[in-house]
Amino acid sequence: MDHNCAVCGRPQQLVDGAQPNLNEAPTDGAVMICWRCNGISLWDGASHGRTRLPTSEELTEIMADPDVRAALQISTTSSTPSEAVRRINRAP
Ligand SMILES: [Zn+2]
Repeated sequence: MDHNCAVCGRPQQLVDGAQPNLNEAPTDGAVMICWRCNGISLWDGASHGRTRLPTSEELTEIMADPDVRAALQISTTSSTPSEAVRRINRAP
């Protein structure tokens, strides 16, 4: 399932370690990290499977989550999306 990044607008393919079935839409409000720009967006099922920018309050809450910070750090230091997923799945 593809979508466009709400931050940079480029097409993205879903690669998600938390939801192993990539054929299913993410949970509404799921945090998305763009592989290309590392921008943070939220899955918005109500808008036919698109992402939206978080509000500043949501972004503050998202960035307070150590799992998100760890995933973002891994994303910025991995060579490929699949490497990032492998590393995220191994993270404690
Ligand atoms: Zn992006």
